[in-house]
Amino acid sequence: MSRILLVTGASRGIGAATARLAAQRGYAVCINYRQDAAAAEAVAAGIIDAGGDAVAIRADVSEEADVLRLYDAIDARYGRLDALVNNAGILERQTGIEGIDADRALRIMKTNVIGPMLCAREAVKRMSRRQGGAIVNVSSAAARTGSPGEYVDYAASKGAIDTFTRGLALEVATQGIRVNAVRPGFIHTDMHADGGEPGRVARMAPSIPMRRGGEPEEVAEAILWLLSDAASFTTGSCLDVAGGR
Ligand code: NAP
Repeated sequence: MSRILLVTGASRGIGAATARLAAQRGYAVCINYRQDAAAAEAVAAGIIDAGGDAVAIRADVSEEADVLRLYDAIDARYGRLDALVNNAGILERQTGIEGIDADRALRIMKTNVIGPMLCAREAVKRMSRRQGGAIVNVSSAAARTGSPGEYVDYAASKGAIDTFTRGLALEVATQGIRVNAVRPGFIHTDMHADGGEPGRVARMAPSIPMRRGGEPEEVAEAILWLLSDAASFTTGSCLDVAGGR
């Protein structure tokens, strides 16, 4: 029987690439999204057309009631969960600290930190009933660089994810649940347009040791490795996928 994987924020970008690669590797994939139903349904349809198993489920991971509904839908369809990729994340327009107010900071923390915690809580409940599983949290190289002058709030949310990854990994290690993170660098996705600079990856390319941005599929490969049995002794770690940055 296929392993069941939930990828949050899988209607586009790194989440969509992860869902597609996971389906190729034999997972049945739950494609969570917040608002773009057409994009999420298209990712699911592409997987099903290729002979895989996928379902798109709308839920805002920053809302606890939505997270519970999301897991109810997974329980109803599959009755279990083997793997979770906490990928959904947001940033807002580039600004210095003077442009950050409590509403903005709360939006970012709710989606990027509290959402993954709630999704992990529900995953751990189901995995510990069933002898284990694997969780990958999508952090960012911003957790190391701090993103000065662009979005220190976003960077701080990813620092929290690194610490959460470590703590949860140690907490559930004896339950056969592995918890790791990937820290992508500059990746070609639409997220940078949300920050107000669609060409940000190209602008930053000269500062990247490999002199280019990454592709969502390159991050997906790292995530799929961490989820797989090939990573059976790897837990509590953060894998940089950042071209050497
Ligand atoms: P993206 O293209 O902006 O896609 C974000 C995805 O998350 C979309 O599917 C979106 O769904 C979903 N989403 C946003 N808020 C949500 C919420 N509250 N509940 C559920 N889904 C939500 O982003 P990306 O570039 O692929 O980034 C994915 C992850 O990688 C994020 O955690 C990001 O911080 C991290 N990352 C990205 C980069 C990069 O350079 N791109 C670098 C480092 C880390 P809708 O479209 O339906 O709203």
